[in-house]
Amino acid sequence: MSLNPTEIDRRLFAMLHHRAHQIGPGDSIAEPLVPASIFHLPDDPEPDRVYGRVANPTVQAAEARLALLEDARTHLFSSGMAAYSATILATIKSGDTVLVLGDGYYAVRHMLAEIFSAYNVEMVTCPAAQIMDAALDGVRLAILETPTNPNLDVIDLAAFARRCQKADCLLAVDNTVCTALTQQPLDLGADIVISSDTKAAAGHSDLLLGHVSSRDDDLMDRVHRARTLAGAIPGAFDAWLLVRGLETLDIRLERMAANAGRVAALLKDHASVVSVRYPGLADDPAFALAGQQMSSPGFLIGVTFADAGRASRFVETSGVFIPTTSFGGLHSSADRRARWGDDVPDGFLRLSLGCEPSAPLLQSVEKGLAALS
Ligand SMILES: *Cc1c(COP(=O)(O)O)cnc(C)c1O
Repeated sequence: MSLNPTEIDRRLFAMLHHRAHQIGPGDSIAEPLVPASIFHLPDDPEPDRVYGRVANPTVQAAEARLALLEDARTHLFSSGMAAYSATILATIKSGDTVLVLGDGYYAVRHMLAEIFSAYNVEMVTCPAAQIMDAALDGVRLAILETPTNPNLDVIDLAAFARRCQKADCLLAVDNTVCTALTQQPLDLGADIVISSDTKAAAGHSDLLLGHVSSRDDDLMDRVHRARTLAGAIPGAFDAWLLVRGLETLDIRLERMAANAGRVAALLKDHASVVSVRYPGLADDPAFALAGQQMSSPGFLIGVTFADAGRASRFVETSGVFIPTTSFGGLHSSADRRARWGDDVPDGFLRLSLGCEPSAPLLQSVEKGLAALS
């Protein structure tokens, strides 16, 4: 069950008008940037304006906007992985078990295996395709990602959340790929949302940020305490850039998804393409579930060519996909994931579609495909 679009429109509207309700004559319409490590501190200080590691006005301005989009209390972090580590510090103690996807974001498994294992935290992994049957007995925290990355499988969050509730297991969902505008895990029963705002949320490939959201106030107190004591608050300028990025997120996502839909259709019918994954294609295995759970099939495409050479030739000759890792930026990009050790064919590319005008973009893709025939 996904929220109807008018609820998301309401949240988006509130986010865009957040500052307008607080300003008076002569104030700037745009959010001011306030770089500050210390604040005027009389005898009886405001608890959240004591020192820059605890809070900062511009960081709070970004958090307030994310909170409106998530409809949940939110704290901002210096990267997506900092948001992950605070979530684990706030929910897990020695002897606990964490379930993660075997084919989810790789750094999460490394963090649990290389850092938290030393504190007697056990990690169990399960591939996304089998997650509905994963045993949850003794699992304290399950962390899912949907759509998975890079394979773009979709997991039924409402169904998995019901299993977690029965097993008394917390559910955190990494919502980086969709953002709060496309998918609302908390409304589907998840306890926690984690997001890397480095990707589409900020959207301009110029910063690292992450956030944690939850409707459990005690849990968010612990998340904030973990940030304050471990020190992972972001700088004011990055938070300010995120405020700016969030204001155009919906129109960027719309253009990116329109481009992805057209490129996926073009790739699907081409003789040099072995296979295409895109949740917006009617014959994609994730199509039905994506239609229920996501308000848009998104901007990522998984495409497989016969071998690594052909995949690289497609990227070079099309001239539009910047070879890079990461995704969600304004510029279309391509990442041949086998080079990072993902369990995908050598000729597999994850394409992230950007905000370029569609006609020249499609011409470039056609040129890249023609070079393979
Ligand atoms: C990039 C990414 C992360 C990590 O975020 P950083 O901002 O790079 O620390 C976590 N999860 C997903 C799905 C990501 O794509």
